[in-house]
Amino acid sequence: MDIGTMAQAEFQHVAAQARDLGRKMWNVCHFHNLPQWLQDNDFLHTGHRPPLNSFQACFQSIFRIHTETGNIWTHLLGCIAFFVMTLYFASRPEEELSFQDKLVFIIYFIGAITCMGFSFVFHTVHCHSETVGKLFSKLDYCGIAILIMGSFVPWLYYGFYCEPYSWMLYLVLIVALGMVAMVVALWDKFSDPGLRPLRAGVFTTFGLIGVIPALHYGAVEGFFSNFTLISLGWLLLMAFLYISGALLYALRVPERFFPGKCDLLFQSHQIFHVLVILAAFVHYHGITKMAEYRLSKGECEVRPAVV
Ligand SMILES: [Zn+2]
Repeated sequence: MDIGTMAQAEFQHVAAQARDLGRKMWNVCHFHNLPQWLQDNDFLHTGHRPPLNSFQACFQSIFRIHTETGNIWTHLLGCIAFFVMTLYFASRPEEELSFQDKLVFIIYFIGAITCMGFSFVFHTVHCHSETVGKLFSKLDYCGIAILIMGSFVPWLYYGFYCEPYSWMLYLVLIVALGMVAMVVALWDKFSDPGLRPLRAGVFTTFGLIGVIPALHYGAVEGFFSNFTLISLGWLLLMAFLYISGALLYALRVPERFFPGKCDLLFQSHQIFHVLVILAAFVHYHGITKMAEYRLSKGECEVRPAVV
């Protein structure tokens, strides 16, 4: 190796070390110092991560304080909680919980894990680079559609327990709409900061499609029967939590009223994440009550056979 090549190799080595050091040594910055692709919410003034260009640095940033720390941890913990619940349900003996009952609950849990897992990863790697940020924001939105689809499964299953054709019809409708929501989410412009209300609107509308089977269900069971009040009551509370979260997210409240004061804590996105977790647990509680009630009633009088 001649001296020129050695010097070049040494230079590359030193440059790589300097880059590594730069990644470890990064400082949070002001909104105006961010590149345009990272400028998402101008009501958050300071504490932003700069572009890190390294997955390792992004994942290490989980343990540092910046505008995304709260968003990362809320959904990381939510994801772990639902993962533990999945293991618990899967380990129940057959006499306690039949295979079908386990399955419908676990499908819901997988929806929650996917949504919160994608969200946690998105918030972690969002500042990697424009391409990575865009790709993971699409996965984040697809996760929301998957959570909504998964939430319908146990609710429809127990709600139309003795009418399997109805619940399957609704399920096909929900899966088809979920696919449409995902295709919309894959559209490149969907993650633009200005389209926040559209994003909130698409997912809220998708969730509100549930009004149709809920009305059908109320008409069959009687709107004021005990079972209807239990199941629709919890469903309404869940809808209230999700819609409140979507509104805060779309309007960027409270940081809109306190610009620069919610940079690290109490920003709308964190509140939205917490409301999603609460809504997911409320839904879990609601479907547990529905399952208990339905299973305590015994077999259906006439239940058409399904494959
Ligand atoms: Zn989020």
